[in-house]
Amino acid sequence: MDWLRRVMNGRYGVDQLSIALLIISVILTIVGIFPNTHFLSTLSLIPLFICYFRTFSRNIRKRYDENQKFLSFWNPIRNTFRKKVERSKDKTHRYYKCPKCGKTVRVPKGKGKICITCPICKEEFIRKS
Ligand SMILES: [Zn+2]
Repeated sequence: MDWLRRVMNGRYGVDQLSIALLIISVILTIVGIFPNTHFLSTLSLIPLFICYFRTFSRNIRKRYDENQKFLSFWNPIRNTFRKKVERSKDKTHRYYKCPKCGKTVRVPKGKGKICITCPICKEEFIRKS
């Protein structure tokens, strides 16, 4: 592994954006197996090339900035998905969006019809819990 350390010395390495590019490339390759989608296999080389370029790049500052831009776009998507998974596992609460301000309100499950007061805008709405 010493040779790898020597090759990677001063180079940027792998980050979340590179992994995302690699996943995009793999998806394009798999979809490109089907008939009439062969151009996608060729297209899959583009994110793969960018991934390699970024990993072996010596311009660490620029690659870091690119990754930060990617994360500022990706993290909200990931967090929304994580919240949905957490809420689907929550057996003791229900989640409602305030009709006025859109804030998510958590209420205990199994209390019948209840009047919910939004903690942000004080809007009241009735839902089945
Ligand atoms: Zn509200």
